[in-house]
Amino acid sequence: MKYFFQVISRYIKPYWFVVFLTFLFNIISAAFSVVSMAFIIPVLEIIFEQSNEVSTLMDWSLDLDVLKNNFYFYITIIKNDFGPGYALLFSGLFMVIATTVKCGTAYLSSYTSVGLRNNIVRDMRKQIFAKIVSLPIGFFSNERKGDIMQRATGDVAEVEGSVMSSIDMFLKNPILIIVYLVAMFFMSIQLTLFAFILLPVAGTIIGRIGKSLKKQSMEGQNKMGELMGILEETMTGLRVVKAFNAEGRINKRYGDEAQAYCNIAKRLSRRRDLAHPVSEILGTVVVIVVVWFGGSLILSGDNSLSVASFLAYLGIFYQIINPAKAFSTALYSIQKGMAAMERIDKILLADDKIFENANGQQIEHLQSGIEYRNVTFSYNGEIDVLKNVSLTIPKGKMIALVGQSGSGKSTFVDLLPRFWDIKQGEILIDNINIKNYRLHDLRGLMGNVNQEAMLFNDTIYNNIAFGVDNATPEQVELAARVANAHDFIMASENGYQTIIGDRGSKLSGGQRQRISIARAVLKNPDILILDEATSALDTESERLVQNALENLMANRTSLVVAHRLSTIKNADLICVFHEGKIVERGTHEELIALNGYYRKLHDMQAL
Ligand code: ADP
Ligand code: MG
Repeated sequence: MKYFFQVISRYIKPYWFVVFLTFLFNIISAAFSVVSMAFIIPVLEIIFEQSNEVSTLMDWSLDLDVLKNNFYFYITIIKNDFGPGYALLFSGLFMVIATTVKCGTAYLSSYTSVGLRNNIVRDMRKQIFAKIVSLPIGFFSNERKGDIMQRATGDVAEVEGSVMSSIDMFLKNPILIIVYLVAMFFMSIQLTLFAFILLPVAGTIIGRIGKSLKKQSMEGQNKMGELMGILEETMTGLRVVKAFNAEGRINKRYGDEAQAYCNIAKRLSRRRDLAHPVSEILGTVVVIVVVWFGGSLILSGDNSLSVASFLAYLGIFYQIINPAKAFSTALYSIQKGMAAMERIDKILLADDKIFENANGQQIEHLQSGIEYRNVTFSYNGEIDVLKNVSLTIPKGKMIALVGQSGSGKSTFVDLLPRFWDIKQGEILIDNINIKNYRLHDLRGLMGNVNQEAMLFNDTIYNNIAFGVDNATPEQVELAARVANAHDFIMASENGYQTIIGDRGSKLSGGQRQRISIARAVLKNPDILILDEATSALDTESERLVQNALENLMANRTSLVVAHRLSTIKNADLICVFHEGKIVERGTHEELIALNGYYRKLHDMQAL
């Protein structure tokens, strides 16, 4: 419960006024609920011909006795002048008015609490998304994508449900219960004390049903998460599913999970539905016992309670059952919601500040160069992927990294924008450790083009302008021309406004790559990082892309990971990676002459 209050106070603060309003409306509503029940007393008294005649009007004041006296005074007049039927209507009219106020304020309170709830959930959604964006890449290599999505959607919905019931629970039900109890005490102390003994007994039995619900609903949620996972995987891998004729298998897998979820959901609903009849029977038992007790009091000639007041008392007593029930279900759904909140907090409370250096040094342009100094890096703390690597990259030079797959080239270039942090050694830009710069500035220096062009399902224009605020259409077009992309863009359906589909699926590999190059051109970075930018392409589009890349690299400092050696022949320095080390370095001619790893790679590709 302590955790619950922490969560609530975390989100509710900006909305204290709405909370106050909801609270106020609930108090008014509860008071008028009692008042409307109380007006049944004169109605019944008239029917039972028991009413006490009042012949004097007292001075009006906000005193219950005065109000009661004067109300009965008018009832007496109406009854004597027009007949008891009209007196009934007169009292009934007050009941209608009181009920209208009660229901009106109840609606107002739910009106405000709907706003509260939805605002809180919106805040939570925005927070989670912003957090996902800000977390370091390393956080996600230990998480499943489907699970993260489930947290951002399903778990938020779960919390929404529990926030809603907790708002009800704290802003409404206690008020109702207290107001009803006070009214009941007011009407009969004896009877209320007696009822007090019965209520906890009934509450315990109802609560027991709720408890077993909790475990089952958790099971159901987990199953739902698995369903989401399969769906997500299938959507991403639909080509493979079709190519391997695996539709039947994947359908069966999904069907099995859906069936399992269906079974749990059925059990859950049936169990939950059981709570209703059970609590109704229990409620009736309690009411009957109270009727028996109160009736005996009346029959034995105890004058403290009239028949009409007793019936009104029972009416109020019956009303207390609902909020009491809601109170117990709220407690149960809060626990359910807090389990979901814990899952969300695993994202929200994760440390995303490790790379941030708000007081760091500013940097706008590269002045002298980059230096990797004795860098050792490991992803898992066990195997060193880079082993004591040093490399100096003077400004304006093109450095090529080659070597077999898995030798650590991508890791090496990913360290520069601090996608990962190194523990041993250091990386310097202009002789200052990159950890001392502002992260935003550091990344602002660099442009990336990778093997897999990462495009968004948006227009070509927006994909190119992605990294630059307020780019002009002229700049975007110029960037596209430099990237050899202008012609094919103009030839496509809507030019720059063409939507390119999920991850750019409506474009060819070479076209995607040229758009991501145009994006880098537009950003105009000092440092360029190309990680196998052409290796996924056929020879024809490789030529176009290679040409675009050369335009891009002109007058920049670039780090180029290359698969095909022909593309980096002109590099100022070529570094050959082997098992996390740079084993050879030099120009193309020097390395050929060296007759080592590079020569071997070269000869293999020449075949
Ligand atoms: P290259 O780009 O030269 O092919 P990488 O730098 O991608 O090589 O990978 C070097 C080694 O690091 C490989 O053994 C690979 O399995 C491992 N590796 C790469 N990325 C990760 C990661 N996110 N988590 C753990 N290990 C990784
Ligand atoms: Mg790689």
